[in-house]
Amino acid sequence: MKREYLKKATLTAKSDASEVHETVRTILADIEAGGDAKAMEYAAKFDQYEGNVLLTAEEIEAAGALVPERLKADIRFAHDNVKRFAEAQKATVSDVEVEIVPGMIAGQKAIPVDAAGCYVPGGRYSHIASAIMTVTTAKVAGCRHITACSPPRPGVGVAPAIIYAANLCGADKIMALGGVQGVAAMTFGLFGLPKANILVGPGNQFVAEAKRILFGRVGIDMIAGPTDSLILADATADPHIVATDLVSQAEHGYNSPVWLVTDDRVLAEKVMELVPALIDDLPEVNRDNAFAAWRDYAEVIVCSDREEMAVCSDDYAPEHLTVQAEDLDWWLERLTCYGSLFLGEETTVSYGDKATGTNHVLPTSGAANYTGGLSVHKYMKIVTWQRATREGAKQVAEATARISRLEGMEGHARAADVRLAKYFPDEAFD
Ligand code: NAD
Repeated sequence: MKREYLKKATLTAKSDASEVHETVRTILADIEAGGDAKAMEYAAKFDQYEGNVLLTAEEIEAAGALVPERLKADIRFAHDNVKRFAEAQKATVSDVEVEIVPGMIAGQKAIPVDAAGCYVPGGRYSHIASAIMTVTTAKVAGCRHITACSPPRPGVGVAPAIIYAANLCGADKIMALGGVQGVAAMTFGLFGLPKANILVGPGNQFVAEAKRILFGRVGIDMIAGPTDSLILADATADPHIVATDLVSQAEHGYNSPVWLVTDDRVLAEKVMELVPALIDDLPEVNRDNAFAAWRDYAEVIVCSDREEMAVCSDDYAPEHLTVQAEDLDWWLERLTCYGSLFLGEETTVSYGDKATGTNHVLPTSGAANYTGGLSVHKYMKIVTWQRATREGAKQVAEATARISRLEGMEGHARAADVRLAKYFPDEAFD
């Protein structure tokens, strides 16, 4: 088996991690010490915003009035779909009760975290869909307090459609704060908010680093790097659709890798010919991102057969994985490492990103090796409980005492001894 690179990345998606770390660490420490006023200072510095941070009901209503009716209907459609999918996921989490031995019962409960902080990115693009994905899922999970926070645009505040979406999907509070200051405000409980138990949502390198530093003190969904996408295509694929889909994901950012893996050299060459023209045809900001991403990070790989294509794809463990090839059932069965899988030309990553219902907050940079994306499960604590009759716990008590003594944990052993002595005073135990 072989992999032939018709195009290889010249850069890999790494930022200057230590510089970002120092910047973020300093901002977090400043805000923890300085509270609301310090967070607002950073909003003025990074986003040139000095307006209200915690939006009022009037501001939320006014924002809604600015959103065109057609877009509102589309947001409601996407929200309905994300909600329906999240509800189906929630139904898979069930409480458990097992009689382990007669009289000894063990159980599991799924308890939603109390307060969720949803970061909705908004620097480069207005990520309306991220508000829908994060807030809806927290609501379905059953979180009691949901805060959505998004960067204000210089001078004018958060994009009205983001405010409308966050409110529709169930945010209790909406904050005009971006980057580290937004993450800090939700974690430290600034502006009168409850302290978040979990922080979710994508964001740039500053947001990701803030979540990494704060993890432990607060839960996080994952640490997201630049978005990445891989397409598996065989000779039956339409080169124009493959090329369009690659470009659609390269526009995320200058460092967003897109990869094509195929067993058909003719298809690969045709796609490589089409992509530059499709990029050229984009509006300027998208074009610049897609051009740099394609030039520096994209790869085109020709494999010998579909099994080798699958091995190659699993090695990359892409965030988004598309299959445009025959026998979709085979691929669904065979592939194991991806954040979200798009089977067939009839669907595309853009659908999942915006409106299908599956979540678009997904593992990047190979993290699909060990985790899936955002789901109701990320907001839920799977906890256990137990209860016993005196007779039911007898064997457990004896075993516990012996194991504990062997470990040298006398205090543990005595917690068992004292019960055996109380409940079975006429028996001897060794
Ligand atoms: P963002 O909201 O993540 O970041 C904007 C904030 O960055 C600003 O409010 C500012 O406070 C802060 N900032 C900017 N420069 C700074 C500096 N020098 N020092 C400290 N803070 C600084 O928006 P963005 O920048 O557009 O990034 C959004 C990211 O989210 C992109 O990487 C995009 O690919 C990603 N994304 C991922 C998904 C997914 O599901 N994987 C979905 C949507 C977006």
